[in-house]
Amino acid sequence: MTYFCTLASGSEGNCYIYVNGRQRILIDAGKNTRYINDCLRQLALSVSDLTHILITHSHADHVSALPVLLKHTRATLVCSGETFSAIGRKLPFGVPVQLFEPGEGFWLGQVTVKTFATSHDAPGSCGFVLGQGSEQAAVCTDLGTMSGEIFETIRGSRVVLLESNHDAEMVKNGTYPYPLKMRILSDEGHLSNKFAAKVAVRLGQSGTKSLLLAHLSAENNEPRLALDTVCNALAEAGVEMDVALAPRNMPGEPVLL
Ligand SMILES: [Zn+2]
Ligand SMILES: [Zn+2]
Repeated sequence: MTYFCTLASGSEGNCYIYVNGRQRILIDAGKNTRYINDCLRQLALSVSDLTHILITHSHADHVSALPVLLKHTRATLVCSGETFSAIGRKLPFGVPVQLFEPGEGFWLGQVTVKTFATSHDAPGSCGFVLGQGSEQAAVCTDLGTMSGEIFETIRGSRVVLLESNHDAEMVKNGTYPYPLKMRILSDEGHLSNKFAAKVAVRLGQSGTKSLLLAHLSAENNEPRLALDTVCNALAEAGVEMDVALAPRNMPGEPVLL
């Protein structure tokens, strides 16, 4: 059985899992080990069943569980060289590590992985496409912006986890300090609801069946607003696609592939 499931999503922690037969690939490890294990138990798994832990980038909301998690699993840590440079010294000595350059592809067991660099403000930051054909899933958060090249890489994925971080007006009118507002809105920050809506339409037109909106800001977004912005754009374009929000603090519905 192959499925993709979100375990947590948002600025307090991000974590997802892609399961294909014996390959159980955790993607990002925000939150903490107990939280991740509790979520996995709901999927009849535990951290000791993980085969790989794939990391998008070094920000704490994506890696905070690693120092403890890696003591409780024999999974191989898979990340870019620059990400490992940023996090490696906090990790237990001697953990199995597989490094790559963003843009490279490789296999994890029988699962193909494509990687793509993102312009987000962490060195070596990247996104992933796992599996192929009807089992293809893409992880696209902490993007900053979406280039044509990224779109070509994720095109055709059956399920896409897509960042829908903020409403730009809420950021502009909100309480964050000016430099932080500028960072969020820049190409090195996060994708807005409106940008996500445009990407959603093109994904729907190129075969994506299921869209999970992720990494919503608690301060600068409302779940209803993110969902409406994307669903209205899809309706206007006449595109049909399942759209769901990745919950902040609990597992989402597994998407079967
Ligand atoms: Zn980040
Ligand atoms: Zn993040």
